[in-house]
Amino acid sequence: MQNLMQKIISLCKRRGFVYPSSEIYGGFGSGYDFGPLGVEMKNNIKMAWWEEITQVQENIVGLDAAILMSPKVWDASGHLTAGFADELVECKKCHHRFRKDFLEKEKCPDCGGELTLPKKFNLMMKTFVGPVEDEASVAYLRAETCQGIYLNFLNVLNSSRLKIPFGIAQIGKAFRNEITPGNFIYRTREFEQMELQWFCHPKTANKFFEYWKGIRMKWYLSLGIKKENLRFKEIPKEELAHYAKRVVDIEYKFPFGWKEIEGIHNRGDWDLSNHSKHSGQDLRYVDELRSSSPSLRSVFDEETKEKYFPYIIETSAGADRSFLTFLIDAYHEIKGGRTKTTKAVKEEEVVLKLDKKLAPIKVAVLPLVKNKPELVKKAKEVYQMLKPHFVCQYDEADSIGRRYRRQDEIGTYLCLTLDFESLKQDDLTIRNRDTMKQQRVKINDLVRTLKEKLEN
Ligand code: ATP
Repeated sequence: MQNLMQKIISLCKRRGFVYPSSEIYGGFGSGYDFGPLGVEMKNNIKMAWWEEITQVQENIVGLDAAILMSPKVWDASGHLTAGFADELVECKKCHHRFRKDFLEKEKCPDCGGELTLPKKFNLMMKTFVGPVEDEASVAYLRAETCQGIYLNFLNVLNSSRLKIPFGIAQIGKAFRNEITPGNFIYRTREFEQMELQWFCHPKTANKFFEYWKGIRMKWYLSLGIKKENLRFKEIPKEELAHYAKRVVDIEYKFPFGWKEIEGIHNRGDWDLSNHSKHSGQDLRYVDELRSSSPSLRSVFDEETKEKYFPYIIETSAGADRSFLTFLIDAYHEIKGGRTKTTKAVKEEEVVLKLDKKLAPIKVAVLPLVKNKPELVKKAKEVYQMLKPHFVCQYDEADSIGRRYRRQDEIGTYLCLTLDFESLKQDDLTIRNRDTMKQQRVKINDLVRTLKEKLEN
């Protein structure tokens, strides 16, 4: 199955989804850059998540916090202490370092040398803020996006009319100095998270944990991931991160095994209570429900209003890991091909059956041949007309069969072909990527028809 990963990595590079970072300098730190198709698809994933969380769900607002925060944040959150460190061993011979929990034997996997005793290695990336590089100017690149949300808990509460239970959502970069990055974009040192922090009364936390677990699983299914490739995994108590009361991961069956793509965490009151302690600001929530009810106001005076640290249910997904998941799940190879080409030899065809919401290119405009100027002119006019409405590509090179294959390989949902009839009838055919059915449509009806097909 590693073969499948090689094919995906090669497709990503060849067609402009993902390139190795700093490639002309030999690469850097197992980082990756998203190319023209990759950035479209990743934006589509983030937009699908944002819509689901901030529009479809209720009582959730968005936030975009700074990556650099006061270093005190990471003291309070526990990330600078042992809580966010991996246990590393070093080979006494070749000095390579490994994560202890990833090792199968007590020997160096690279040279067979003897290993040192394990030592903690912190995953936070350090930098300096301002012109002087001393201890006082040390700052950290955030290792999780959620801390920016906790710091703004009061700001959001005071500037909105939200009442508990409510959520704050954020998408953004996070950085971890991973010891063993790998499996393409599965584990990198710079990545994007899509996180929801749901603030609720402690008594309702278990109920909401189950609710969000269900909603998040449904999200992957609704975007086409096959059911048999997804599962929940309850993390045993002894393996929980320092902040967590309960964790259930959503796992995907990657070619390299079942692996986490998202974590659902009950963080209890760890974050708000620690930030209260360290900042001296009272981050408790005052339940106004009682006092805002006129009949109860006489029963409960100000003193008896409940004041508590809300519990936090967090859903934390990786945009890059989701990207890899959607790519792998959509990747289909058709032996011998399915579209006619002029070549007698049938080739293997790749179809990326991405959900139409996620496909980087929605519509391709293809004149049947390129040596008929009126046809090319008309096709270009159609392309210009559609461009403001949909992400489109225009392609006139090679046979029509080859062009269909090129579009199928990048998951383009609809191909529009203009043929000789189009010149007389002012129409064209729409070809669906998955069914390969073709339908003739009048050009003056095209935008409406495409909207119907792409948005429903
Ligand atoms: P892992 O056990 O794989 O290191 P984690 O349990 O540390 O992951 P969380 O802290 O729960 O991960 O982060 C939430 C999500 O952020 C993960 O499910 C994943 O999608 C994403 N993520 C975390 N670390 C990385 C990374 N190094 N590269 C890419 N995505 C990541």
